[in-house]
Amino acid sequence: MVVDYYPVLGENLAVDLANSWYVMDGEGFDFLGTPELVAGWWDEVRQMAAVQAMTALSGADHRRLVALRDAVRAILLSVLDGGRAGEDALAVVTACVTRSPVRRTLAAPGRSAPVVTVIPGEGAAGILGLLADACVQLFAGPEVPVIRRCEGPGCPMLFVRHHARRRHCHSSCAHRGRQARYYRRQLSVRHDEAR
Ligand SMILES: [Zn+2]
Repeated sequence: MVVDYYPVLGENLAVDLANSWYVMDGEGFDFLGTPELVAGWWDEVRQMAAVQAMTALSGADHRRLVALRDAVRAILLSVLDGGRAGEDALAVVTACVTRSPVRRTLAAPGRSAPVVTVIPGEGAAGILGLLADACVQLFAGPEVPVIRRCEGPGCPMLFVRHHARRRHCHSSCAHRGRQARYYRRQLSVRHDEAR
């Protein structure tokens, strides 16, 4: 299945990952549900994050990616609801970080951005590591208290509220909702046909 819309805000890699599970009217659509969807999603993300192209994911890597997304989403929702993140979700993120080849290194001393993220080699391990690293940076950083749900009617998107008056994920929020409904219908038709 090919879609021409992905719920990617391009502001925070970890939040974009969490938003790849899209719930509308109580039903979910998984924008990482197939290898084709993953490739399209990553293309959208990497243009904004200026990172490497996706290589083909093995079945195991695809499952790891979805598990990482589910874990990050669960942790974010627990933060929003004022609860504690589940041990299982934390363990999934930790496992991805442990396995990650991504390294952070110091650039030339200076006041701005001395830390550089290095992704050695190509492939799924680097991409999964980059995403896991983004999750750790988000949860360890100062933005956790300003993570919000979009206030658009029925919009499931999460975002980091960088400005106190911001209430929506994006100015085209309502349009995105219609698009997502369309894709969800398409996917359910496809599932029915496959039975
Ligand atoms: Zn929205």
